[in-house]
Formats: sequence, structure tokens, C-alpha cells
Amino acid sequence: MIKRLSLISASVALGCIATILPVLTSIYVADEDAERREQDDLQQLAAKAVIRTELVTYQAFAAIADMEAVPGGPCSPGYIAQLARVIFNYRYVQDAGAYGGGQYLCSPLMGDVRAQHLTMPPPSWRSNDGYLVWFRQKNPLSDVRQDIQIGRNGNYVSIDPQSYVDLIDLARRPIAAINVETNTILALSSGADGNDMLNAWKLAGHVNSEQWYYAVARSATRPLGVVVKSPRSSLLGNWTGVLVMWLSVGVIVGGLLGWLAFRQISRQLSFPATLEWAISRRRIDVYFQPIVSLTNGECVGVEALVRWNLNGRYISPEIFVAVAEQNRLIQPLTDLVLDKTIDELSKLLRSRPSFYVSINVSSEDLRTHRFLNVLTARLGGTGIRPAQIRIEATERSFMDADATRETIAAFRNAGHPIYIDDFGTGYSSLSYLQTFTVDVLKIDKSFIDTIAQDAASSVVAPHIIEMAHELGVEIVAEGVERDVQVEYLVQRGVQYGQGWLFAKAMRVNELILWLSESRSTLQPTN
Ligand code: C2E
Ligand code: MG
Ligand code: MG
Repeated sequence: MIKRLSLISASVALGCIATILPVLTSIYVADEDAERREQDDLQQLAAKAVIRTELVTYQAFAAIADMEAVPGGPCSPGYIAQLARVIFNYRYVQDAGAYGGGQYLCSPLMGDVRAQHLTMPPPSWRSNDGYLVWFRQKNPLSDVRQDIQIGRNGNYVSIDPQSYVDLIDLARRPIAAINVETNTILALSSGADGNDMLNAWKLAGHVNSEQWYYAVARSATRPLGVVVKSPRSSLLGNWTGVLVMWLSVGVIVGGLLGWLAFRQISRQLSFPATLEWAISRRRIDVYFQPIVSLTNGECVGVEALVRWNLNGRYISPEIFVAVAEQNRLIQPLTDLVLDKTIDELSKLLRSRPSFYVSINVSSEDLRTHRFLNVLTARLGGTGIRPAQIRIEATERSFMDADATRETIAAFRNAGHPIYIDDFGTGYSSLSYLQTFTVDVLKIDKSFIDTIAQDAASSVVAPHIIEMAHELGVEIVAEGVERDVQVEYLVQRGVQYGQGWLFAKAMRVNELILWLSESRSTLQPTN
């Protein structure tokens, strides 16, 4: 039972694992894949953003070069007009002007401001190639706006920092443009935090974050860098939710698979399978029921009767023999009974050469010579005479007449007498039986039961006895339970009897004891 339970739980557990494992694996693989794609995509955004920072920077340089090429002094009307063109020509340039002596001098948007003495602070950074850069310089035209100003030789341009980072990105991922020599943020898109982005830049994007991926890119020509980030939208973001969902699916499908496995196992543990197991493990016993001479009470032989005790439960041979017949197990069962019978009785049979044991066979054992061969081989060297092993076959096993007749003849030729068991319960007519040569008829208990009773069926018993006499065979009366039956049978010339009046089927050691006791009395026992 415990074995059964553990098999069932094991199959349910296996079912669950079989369901959950592939699902979790595919989630994991899908998640890894999604993560890789997301990172690739983010890297592409970083590359695009770097190109933009370069573009803006080179536009500024180009604008300055154009301004430097304007003939005449700064702030002349021609100069201002030329600068207006520069602003118009370069998309990212918001204003362009002249500076000198730490002051703004003029620009197309401000006009000539030399008289106003607008201070221009020292540059935030100076590039190797002579450009001055003011990071986030307050624009004189506005109280709120801070521009990036790039200048050289008295000409400068103002650039809106947003120009560096306002890429078209539907996902609106935060972007930061950085001067990588000074580690200064040049521009931040909305939603980007300066410290966060700068930190990511310093870590080359390898930020340990559960919420964000980072990617960085660096310009090959200018000291410009870019940091971008994107939220982890991964499937496994909600790992516990996914786990719970798939665990539920796993348990349902696993339960289903487990149930199927259980049905399969139940079938394996079914009655035929258990019987097969018992036969192969020789867990089936053989008991022996005496057959006695009705005239003098002497025990002339025994019938081998199979016994199966399954976990303390007695199972009737009427049931499991039929199951064995239906499940191709009858041949191994017959072989086992023979083997155990010879094992247990050989000493007794050798010491009493006229004593015999009759073995019940099924129709399948009579269809071929297989069992006869097994029997002959088993008897070899035992000192047991063939006549001591008798074959009991029911009338029903004679149905396949041609095959059976031949096998029965072979048994008889080999010296094994043939008994017809349960005689009278089958359908055989006398004429039909006459076509077989048999040695003994065993009259079925149902007829013996009616002896000395007023039942209508009691008329059948004398007819059957008559029939046996006419066939010229000996008779064993089965199921003799009362003395009056013995009396009746002896009067009708029935030679042998078997029944609880004499003894029930018993183990070999009980039989030997019983034999020694009954021999001394030579009387039927109660
Ligand atoms: P069977 O061959 O006709 O065996 C006689 C049956 O009657 C046995 O039942 C026996 O215990 C029972 N019996 C004997 N005397 C009395 C009695 O006075 N009163 C009552 N009420 N019963 C009595 P069992 O052992 O239960 O066997 C039943 C049947 O199972 C057998 O009938 C036989 O057909 C079959 N069987 C038993 N052992 C084997 C075997 O080894 N191989 C095959 N193929 N069939 C077997
Ligand atoms: Mg029998
Ligand atoms: Mg019988």
C-alpha cells in the first residue's frame, strides 16, 4: 500500500516537473532573449546619440569658421548681417556673436551691446584644438535659458543643450551628453538625472540596477560621450507572479499527467499484474486434499490445490485461476503447482509407489504437448513413476476436441492417468466422452450434495454414476461431507471419495501427519 502511494505521489510529482520545467525554461530563454534585444536596441540608441552630439559640435565649428571668414571688424553692420546668415544656415546654432575683453560685444539677436558691458565669464573648458566652451552659460537674452557656448578668436555660437539629446525616440529613453575630459554633463533629456547618468558613464554602463539597463557610447573624434538608459521591461520583472502563474498551470497539468500515470500504474498494480508477480515470486502455495478409498478408508492419493494468500487475504482459486486463464498466466501457474508439488511430495511418492497426486490443468495446458514435456522433464531423476502424477481436466477443457484428444492420448501414453474433473457440470454427452479415453471421472460436488435428499436433482447422481460405469472408468466422488453419502456411494459401486468428511486440503507437513494418523485407524475422519 505504501509502495502504491509512493508510486502515485512520484508520478504526480513527475507530472508537475514535466510541466513546469519546460515552461520555466522557455520563460527563462525568452527573458534572456528579450533582455539581449533590449540591450542591443539601447546600444543603437547610444550610437545614434553620439552621432548627434558630433553633428551639433561640428555645426558649431563650421559656424565659427564661417564667422572668422567675415571680412572687416566685429560688430560692423556687414558682420552682423553675415552672422544672421550663419544662424540661419546652421540649424543648431541659436545665436552667434563676437566677444572680447571678457564681455559680449554684439550678435544679431542682442544687437550691439558693447556699451552694456555684459560680462562673459572665463570658459569652462578649452579643447586641445583651441576651442573655448562654456557649459550651461546663462544666455544674456534670457533669465531662464542656459546655453552651451563655443567660441574661438572672438567669435562664439550659442547652442541649446537640448540639441544634443533631442533625438526622435518613441520610447523616450533618457539620454545624457557628456564631455568626457571633464566628466561634465553637457545636456540631459527629460527624465534623465545628471548624477545617475554620470555614474553610469564612469561605470561604462555596468550599473547594478534591477530597473534599468544602461548603455554608453563615445565619439571617436571628439571628447564626447553619451549615456542612455531604458527600463527593464523584462518578463521576469515580475518573477514571483510568473512563477505563481506557471506553478498553478504546472500543478493542474501535472495533476492530470499524474492521474494518467496513476491509472497506468493502477493497471500495472491490477489484479492480473499482482497475480503475475505472485507467480513469478513463487508466492503461491499448493495444498493437498486426500482422496480415499470409500470401501476401506485408505488414502490412495491427493489432489494438489493451489492456494494464494495475498497480504493476509485468502483468494479463492475459482477466482484467480480464471484470471490466470484470461491473462495468459495459466501455464506458469500450472508449472509452479507442478514444481512445488514435486518438491514437497517427492519423498512421499517415492516411499509409497502406489500413492499419487492429481494436478489440475486448464484447456491451454491440453492444447499442446508443452506441459507434458515440462512434466516429463521435471520427473526425470526423481524416482517418481508417471502413474503417480495424474492429470485433472474439466469437461470444459475438452471443448477443443481435436487438439485435446491428441494431447490426452500423449499424457496417457506417457503413463499419466487422466481424470475428468467436475463431471456432470459440463455439456458433454456420453457419446462425446466416449471419443476420449480417460481413466477416472470425478463426480462434481453439486451431485454428491443431493444424495439422500428429496431434491429433484438427486435423481441425477445415480445416472451419472451409471454413465461412468458404462464408460468403464473409476469414479471419485467430490465434496463428500456426510457418512450417508459414503454409504450411498459404496452401494452404487463408487470406489473413491474426496471431501471434508475425510480431510480438507492441507500443507504437506499436515498431510504427512494426517496420513500417519489415518493409516493407523484406516477409518474416515470427521
Ligand atoms: P476442483 O478441482 O474441483 O477442486 C475441488 C474443490 O472442491 C476444491 O476447491 C476443494 O477445496 C473443494 N472441496 C473438496 N472437498 C470439499 C467438501 O467436502 N466441501 C466443500 N464445500 N468443498 C470441497 P478449491 O481448492 O477452492 O478449488 C476450486 C477449483 O479451483 C478447483 O476445483 C479447480 O477447478 C481449481 N483449481 C484449484 N487448484 C488448481 C490448480 O492448481 N490449477 C488449476 N488449473 N485449477 C485449480
Ligand atoms: Mg480438481
Ligand atoms: Mg472438481
